Amino acid sequence: MKLATLCAGWCLLIGGPAAMSADQPTAEPHRIPGFTASSSDHERSLEARLVDLLDPASTARHFRLLTEEPHPAGSDENLKLARYVRDQFAAFGLEDVKMLRYDVLLPWPRKVAVSMVEPIEWTASLAEDGYPVDKDSYAVGASLTYLGMSASGDVTADVVYAHSGNPEDYDWLEAQGIAVRGKIAVVRYSNPYSYRGFKAWEAERRGVAALIIYSDPMDDGYRKGEVFPYGPWGPKSHIQRGAITYDFIVPGDPLTPGWASVEGAKRIAPEAARSVPRIPAVPMSWRDAKPVLERLGGPVAPPDWQGALPMTYRVGPGPAKLHVEIDMDDEVRPIWVVEGRIRGSEKPEETVILGNHRDAWVYGAVDPSSGTATLLEAARVLGALAKSGERPQRTLVLANWDAEEWHLTGSTEWGEQHAAELGQGAVAYLNVDSSTSGPNFSVDAVASLNPTILEVARDVIDPNSRRSLLDAWTKATSAKGDGSPIDNNIGSGSDHTVFLNFLGVPVVEMTFDGPYGVYHSQYDDLYWMEHFGDPGYRYMTAMVEVWGRLGLRLANADVIPYDFRPYATTVQSFVDSLREIPRLEEELDLTAVTAVVDEWRSEAEVLHQKTERALALEEMVPAALFSELNTALVQVERQLLLAEGIPGRPWFKHILYAPRYTYAAMSLPGVREAAEAGDWKLARSQLEALLGRLRAVTAATREAAALVPAP
Ligand SMILES: [Zn+2]
Repeated sequence: MKLATLCAGWCLLIGGPAAMSADQPTAEPHRIPGFTASSSDHERSLEARLVDLLDPASTARHFRLLTEEPHPAGSDENLKLARYVRDQFAAFGLEDVKMLRYDVLLPWPRKVAVSMVEPIEWTASLAEDGYPVDKDSYAVGASLTYLGMSASGDVTADVVYAHSGNPEDYDWLEAQGIAVRGKIAVVRYSNPYSYRGFKAWEAERRGVAALIIYSDPMDDGYRKGEVFPYGPWGPKSHIQRGAITYDFIVPGDPLTPGWASVEGAKRIAPEAARSVPRIPAVPMSWRDAKPVLERLGGPVAPPDWQGALPMTYRVGPGPAKLHVEIDMDDEVRPIWVVEGRIRGSEKPEETVILGNHRDAWVYGAVDPSSGTATLLEAARVLGALAKSGERPQRTLVLANWDAEEWHLTGSTEWGEQHAAELGQGAVAYLNVDSSTSGPNFSVDAVASLNPTILEVARDVIDPNSRRSLLDAWTKATSAKGDGSPIDNNIGSGSDHTVFLNFLGVPVVEMTFDGPYGVYHSQYDDLYWMEHFGDPGYRYMTAMVEVWGRLGLRLANADVIPYDFRPYATTVQSFVDSLREIPRLEEELDLTAVTAVVDEWRSEAEVLHQKTERALALEEMVPAALFSELNTALVQVERQLLLAEGIPGRPWFKHILYAPRYTYAAMSLPGVREAAEAGDWKLARSQLEALLGRLRAVTAATREAAALVPAP
């Protein structure tokens, strides 16, 4: 997953607040949005039974098993866990349980070594220390320390410290007359956060010969608070692993971009794959980075480049000279997606999908085993309800992805394989990657689902305050200065990507986060979780409840509760934010796009009023009407897909959303990227494309409303 925990300071970079007023739940207390009064009553009693079935001890059992061994994608341990998930799904009564195999590019390292050759001889440990209180902290040896999709290489060169490895950092170095071409760049992980693959991309573009990415204690170590094993932050030897795949260009198996890597699939040559980095890169602890940084001369680094190590950071180049040697095996390996269903009683072809990945860099307690344990517990309680005769109206699909950590692989291949069926019937995709690293609820979602999410949160009890989760959540987020607790600006970095950006399915992405400095290190383990993240498994269990209720509401609603009013308001805020781009208002006329968004909001209001009235009338409305209406509603979000995709990234088809290369959210990507680059001709044609899609979504909303008879 992307690292969300350090959000407090920088999450405004990723997404702005959405309008609050239209997000507020509007249905009268006895009726859930999308439900008639009688089906509301039934839904509430069903959810009460779900709550009765919840058992933190059961979540804990799954969690402990999942975190026993390191289980990276492609390993025997992860295959063993796939079989465990499959067998549990079957035992819980899920139907059509299967394991789907995809063969994908997943190179493992044969050798990773970093040593200093000048001014002293020294070898980096590239290892994390054990602590007597935590037996798991001795169990490395699972694999070498490496970054997924690093190129092989053997480089000896002077070192330059390039801060966070962002474009402006290299620009500053250049302005000082410091060339990075052919050098080894050492960069920090955060400050501000960006995806490590973007650091590799930028370094490759600048001609850097090899890249070292280290964890400065400023960002996730002692400067934040107590370190492991005494606290949740990263100790001196902790290493953040991860992949550097350029999956912001195209995610999934790099050798099958846009189609599924099933048996017999056409594969392109690795040299032709746009998402494969060409630069050798290694992750490091600050313990290993310190002797290198201490041996840099040259100018003093700017104040915001200074980290928390007790030294003055200088940028070099040299005199430290390193030898970096990486040898990757370039193998294609099998990965395994596990899926199971609870077939819908009334509308089996309409699906609500709950998904989480299973593969971890090491033990993956937070990322992703907290989510996998949550998924298994959700399977147990939903399966138990179905067994007792309470089958949902629509089909619930539970999916356990693989190799998310590499290129969002399993979900992308699965989505590409089932594109036709998902295009027809997928109502929503609900992602839980890291379920729990603390008590702070956090949701990214498409705004049409805001009211339903808020209603669910209102009905869940927050484990700490014992008040409603909505209260705790709203309070925590408004304390941070955000307007709405839901972030409707959606980036990438997890398995929701294929559903939103490739398939046009509304998505929700949820987590409970908190202080977490051991992301992708071996210390993200059972000990960490039971001492810091979620002692007592209360928040994982709360997530089962949120996920289960949300899944059931979307599966059981008489009318799928998409509310396009907050969606239109959100899109207007996206349009308004374009005005911040220099010269945009001189070059582009936003009048027409604003007018069509207004029109969409009006149509959404009509749809809402008519639907609410029909639901309130209950007995007088034939079921066939709701069925036809739902079929039409499912197609509304699909209207936002652009067949040819956004410029330069045809896989990303959603007109409203694409990730920046940093994984940060970017709204209206076609117009925005062109405008930011000053390419006004392209920006104008993208604005036309945006208008076209917004007209289509408005028409689809109007046609849905026309299906509901006027009073
Ligand atoms: Zn993850």
